[in-house]
Amino acid sequence: MAINKQAYNAIKAVVGERYISEDPAIMEGYRSGPAGYENSTGYERVMCCLPHAVCLPKNTKEVLAVVRICNRYDVPYVPYSTGFYGPRSHCHVENELIIDLKRHNEFEMDERHFYFNVGSGVTLAALQQECMNKGAYTIIGGGGAQCSAICNLIGDGWSPLSLRVGLPHRRILGTEVVLPDGEYLALGSLSYTDDPFWGEGPGPDLRGLLRGFTGVRGCLGVVAKMAIKSLPWQPEPLIPSGVAPNTTLQLPVGRVAWQNYLVPTKEAQVKAMFEIGHAEIAAACTKVPKFWRAIAKAEDKEEFWKIWLVENEESLRNFFIVRVLVVGYTSREDYEYQMRVLNDILSEVGGKATPTKPSDESWLKNADSAGMWLMCGSYVSVDYIIETLTQATQHGLTYAELKRKYTPPLMPDFGDPGWFQNFELGHQGYSEFLIYWDMREDISGVDQFYVDTSKMNIQHRYYTSLIGPHQPLYLTGPQYGPNYHIWMLKVKDEFDPKWLSHPPVPLAHDAFVDRAPWMQSIKDWNPPKEADFPVPKTFTYPKVDISKIPLNGALVKGDLYK
Ligand SMILES: Cc1cc2nc3c(=O)[nH]c(=O)nc-3n(C[C@H](O)[C@H](O)[C@H](O)COP(=O)(O)OP(=O)(O)OC[C@H]3O[C@@H](n4cnc5c(N)ncnc54)[C@H](O)[C@@H]3O)c2cc1C
Repeated sequence: MAINKQAYNAIKAVVGERYISEDPAIMEGYRSGPAGYENSTGYERVMCCLPHAVCLPKNTKEVLAVVRICNRYDVPYVPYSTGFYGPRSHCHVENELIIDLKRHNEFEMDERHFYFNVGSGVTLAALQQECMNKGAYTIIGGGGAQCSAICNLIGDGWSPLSLRVGLPHRRILGTEVVLPDGEYLALGSLSYTDDPFWGEGPGPDLRGLLRGFTGVRGCLGVVAKMAIKSLPWQPEPLIPSGVAPNTTLQLPVGRVAWQNYLVPTKEAQVKAMFEIGHAEIAAACTKVPKFWRAIAKAEDKEEFWKIWLVENEESLRNFFIVRVLVVGYTSREDYEYQMRVLNDILSEVGGKATPTKPSDESWLKNADSAGMWLMCGSYVSVDYIIETLTQATQHGLTYAELKRKYTPPLMPDFGDPGWFQNFELGHQGYSEFLIYWDMREDISGVDQFYVDTSKMNIQHRYYTSLIGPHQPLYLTGPQYGPNYHIWMLKVKDEFDPKWLSHPPVPLAHDAFVDRAPWMQSIKDWNPPKEADFPVPKTFTYPKVDISKIPLNGALVKGDLYK
C-alpha cells in the first residue's frame, strides 16, 4: 500500500518534484529516535512508523493546497517542523504523509513594534539572533535553539526567562492557520487587515485552539505563519567562545550576569523567589536540580556517574540553590540597582553568593539540550505545571515518592523533588519533573509511571499542564473540566471530520494504553474499547510484535540493576 498516486502527483505539482519523496532511504530520516525526547518509550515503540511520503511546501499557499489535496483523497498527514519533540511528531498510522515545514522560512521584522512575522521553518536560533541584532530578545526553551519558533510557541514556550517575558500565549500575534478541512483561518489583526501586529482581534479569541495549554500536537491542522512578539534587550554583545561541544556565551560584565546563591532551607528558597518577584527585579530565577550540575560538570556519561554516585538522600535533602539572571535592561546603573536589591533579599533569607561563571550556555541561545539525556540515553518530562508558586514548589515531593516504586528502571536520583522556578514576576510558579532511563532496560515501568503520575495528579487535585493528547484522554477528561475530553473531541470532529490531521491524536495515548499489554494492570478508569474510539476504522496502526517491545524488541536484555 502507498498513498493515493493521484494525490501524490497533485502534491508534486504544488511543491515541485524536488520537494516531495517516497524514497525509503529519505523516509528513514523521519524515524522517531534513536535519541531524544521520549525516545524508547513504549509509546514510541508501539505507535510510531515511517511515513510513506514527505513533502516540503514553501509558503502558506502551498500548505493550503497540500492539505486540500489530502482532504480530497483522504490522505492522513503529520505537520512537522523540526521533529525534535520525538515520537509525538512522527507518523502513527501506515501510509501517511509528513508535511515538513522547514522550507516555510519567511522572515520579516517590524522594528518599530518589535515583532517578527515568520514561517514554521524558522528556528528559535535564527529568531533570537535577529532579535538581539535589533535590541530585542525572546525565549528559547530547554528543547534548544534548533526547534521551530512557531512550534515551540504552539506547544511550550517557557524557560527561566519567563520570570519577566511571561507566558507564551501572550506573544502569539496575527497567525495564519490551515485547518484540517482545508479552510484558511486568519487570527488576530490578520482577520481584518494585512498587518499581524495584534493577537486579539474581533470576536472570540481562537488562539486557545492552537495550543490549549501545552499544545494539541498537530491534530488541528497546520500553523503556517505567525507574528511573534519580542521584548527589549540590552545593547552590549554576548560573545560566543569555546570549541564545540564546550561552547558558551561570554556575558558583558557589569550588564548581564547569572548569580547563584546557596540558601539554608526550601522555605528560604521559595521566600527568595517571592521577594524577587515582588521587587520586580531580575530576568530569570530558578532552582537548579543537583543532577543538572553533575551533567554540566561531566565530559561524558562515565564521568557523570562518578560525580553523581557520591550523592545520597541526605546530601540532596540539604541542597538549596537559587540561580538568578540579572540584566541591566536600560543601563549599567539599572544592573547595579538590581544586584543590590537581590543581595539584600538573599542575605535576609540567609543566602550566600557562590562564584558563578560570567557565561551562559543554557537559556539565552540554548545549545545544551542534546546533553540532557547524557546520563542514561532516554529522557522525558512526565509533567510540567504552571500554577501558583506555592503549588509549583510542593507537588514535586509527591512525584519523588511515587517514583521510588519505579526505580529502576528509572535513574536513581536519591529522591530529588524536581525543578521549580518563578514565572511572571512571582504571579505564577512552574515545576517540571524529569525522568531518565536506559533504553536497554525493560521499559514497562517507565510507561506505567508516566500514566500513574496523571492518576496521582487527579488524586491530589493538582493542576497539570500535561493533559490533552499527552495522557489518555479518557483518564484525564472526566476529571478535569470536568469532561473536557468530550469538548475536545467535538472540536476535533468539527474542524477535522475525517481525522486526517495526525491521527489518532488526541487519542493516541489512549490507543497506546489499549494496545500495550503491560499497561493493562494500571488501567482503572473507564475508556471505551479501542474499536469504539471515534477514530476512522480505515487507519492501520504500525505492525509491531507487541510481545517483544518492552525489552527493546528483545534485542538487548537489560541487567544494569542486577
Ligand atoms: C530535551 C527537551 C527539553 C525541552 N525543554 C523545553 C523547555 O524548557 N521549554 C519549552 O518551552 N519547551 C521545551 N521543550 C519542548 C520543545 O522545545 C518543543 O517541543 C519544540 O520546540 C517543538 O518544536 P519542534 O520544531 O521540535 O516541533 P516538532 O517536533 O516538529 O512538532 C511538535 C508537535 O507539533 C506538531 N507540529 C509541528 N509543526 C506544526 C505546525 N506548524 N502546526 C501545527 N502543528 C505542528 C507536530 O505534529 C508535533 O505533534 C523541550 C523539548 C526537549 C526535547
